[in-house]
Amino acid sequence: MSGMEITRRDFIKNFIIMGGSLLFYPVSLSAEQKKGEQWHPAYEKLEKEGKLAQRVEQAYAMFEDCQLCPRRCGVNRLKGERGFCRAPARPVVFSSQPHFGEEISLVGKNGSGTIFFSNCNLRCIFCQNWPISHEGKGNVIQDEGLADIMIHIQKIGCHNINFVTPTHVMPNILNATRIALKKGLRLPLVYNTSGYERLEILKILDGIMDIYMPDMKYMDADQAGKYSSGASDYPELAKKAITEMNRQVGELLTDKRGIAFRGLIIRHLVMPNRVAGTEKFVRWVAETLSKSTYVNIMPQYRVEYKAFNYPEIARGITVQEFLQAMGWAETYGLTNLDPHSVAVRDFYHRR
Ligand code: SF4
Repeated sequence: MSGMEITRRDFIKNFIIMGGSLLFYPVSLSAEQKKGEQWHPAYEKLEKEGKLAQRVEQAYAMFEDCQLCPRRCGVNRLKGERGFCRAPARPVVFSSQPHFGEEISLVGKNGSGTIFFSNCNLRCIFCQNWPISHEGKGNVIQDEGLADIMIHIQKIGCHNINFVTPTHVMPNILNATRIALKKGLRLPLVYNTSGYERLEILKILDGIMDIYMPDMKYMDADQAGKYSSGASDYPELAKKAITEMNRQVGELLTDKRGIAFRGLIIRHLVMPNRVAGTEKFVRWVAETLSKSTYVNIMPQYRVEYKAFNYPEIARGITVQEFLQAMGWAETYGLTNLDPHSVAVRDFYHRR
């Protein structure tokens, strides 16, 4: 692999100059596999079993009476009706690019291949991506176009396809995955979701997604309802969803380069005034999942969008609040915390 090694700066330069076509990074993820055995993505196995096409069909049928998320709007998106998320039946993509700000095991040397979908089924009032998620800015494309983006991401050397806010476009993602598989796609798929999911829908994804990366935003129904457009069932449903994700893919696995190829990553954003319920969250992970679940306790809350109107969350978090959150994770025995969070904690401890 040494002949392929490039610096991040070189990668970005090449990406810009060559329109992203210069590099090809072969997928040979071999950890946890027998020596020499090639890693295969989950969806490839499902296609070989003849089940992927059925899943695409099953998922697409849901557009006719949309129940893709807990909002259960019941609109016919194939006829142009729009539900709470305001999404059409075709995918709307704001951007796609190698992303170097994700978890280090997704980023590696060449970045995580993020595809940012417009619109959202949760719509938090502190959303950092509100022009995309709330206002739906982006380009409407076809599933074939989405498949081409996925292939392009693989060609430029990213380590995975990272679907950001995928819930309302899940059928398109499945269809595009099947098209891209036939064109040679072999990267792990990352389902990067708010966690506001239905169990029945996640079962359609079983055997397709390699990595789940849900948020766990709140543990309290009132906070969820107040800050996420009335979604007071969020804590209950997100806990069920994450438990199901864990059942499907298990704990995070990485190869010898430290690149993730399967498993669960839970993100939890620490919020001011304990709004996110961090202590309850880490206790729930320790008691319900496993103490070695990969958990990213994130310090980067900032006041965005309409959060200025809510005094409780109209400020950033304090150092004390972040250290307290990390302290709870230690108290409840979590052993697989995101290295960046740990570095931030250690930095503040040293000061
Ligand atoms: S995906 Fe959109 S239209 Fe479908 S149930 Fe959810 S919010 Fe409603």
